[in-house]
Amino acid sequence: MVQTCSVAFCKSRKTSSGDLHFFSFPLKNPDLLQHWVSATKKDLFVPNRWSKICSNHFLPRDYRQPPGGTYILKLNSDASLQFVYHHHPNHLLNSKK
Ligand SMILES: [Zn+2]
Repeated sequence: MVQTCSVAFCKSRKTSSGDLHFFSFPLKNPDLLQHWVSATKKDLFVPNRWSKICSNHFLPRDYRQPPGGTYILKLNSDASLQFVYHHHPNHLLNSKK
């Protein structure tokens, strides 16, 4: 199954080029989870363990890659909450006009 982004209108898909990264919802952190769900802009969206949001909606400083590992978000930092202000890439905002 192709990995897609849970954010409404986001067309991101996981590609072999690997410049996009997908992050799982923080299912064990209800407060943060609420931020993520509202950022998807989908009504009644219930994320499961396979739901992901792509790196377009985060700031580069909000995630890091351990050597040889997969990208992870710094969920405990204030910075990670700020992603809600970046939930739409600019080209998506422009296309709404
Ligand atoms: Zn996305």
